[in-house]
Amino acid sequence: MEEDDKKKHNLTKRGLQVIGIILILGGLACTVIGSVNFFSSIGSGEIPSLFWLLMIGLPMLTIGVAMLTFGFRREISSYVKNETVPVLNEAGEELSPAAETLSKALKEGAADTLCCPGCGAENSAELQFCEQCGTALTKTCPACGQSVSAQARFCGHCGANLNE
Ligand SMILES: [Zn+2]
Ligand SMILES: [Zn+2]
Repeated sequence: MEEDDKKKHNLTKRGLQVIGIILILGGLACTVIGSVNFFSSIGSGEIPSLFWLLMIGLPMLTIGVAMLTFGFRREISSYVKNETVPVLNEAGEELSPAAETLSKALKEGAADTLCCPGCGAENSAELQFCEQCGTALTKTCPACGQSVSAQARFCGHCGANLNE
């Protein structure tokens, strides 16, 4: 069904474009012949016998341009609908799990685990001592008394320098 609809759309579009081009070419020819006849007749003082060509040619041109515009507008809108949106959707579908994984990894890596300074094992950030080697994972800030990570160079609570 969709294929048939597409074919019909393409046919309508093609028809509009072909008729539009024919109308423009015909209208252009009529306009040129009509105006040439009009001006040469005026120059020689005769009644312009082909003036009616101008009267047909100009509306033909206008309709032709409108049909071409419509034909291509349809093409543009179907292009936007059929090509761009699925590409965006696909990109979004592919990116969102990756973004989720990344944010998860960032959360786990940065906030929820702590690397043991003694053996390098990953421990939950809430633990006080390494589950693998017993090394203290936290120390007490000498300035404010809060518990900070054993590797912390500065206290996260008061900003005191813990290197000294
Ligand atoms: Zn350890
Ligand atoms: Zn402190």
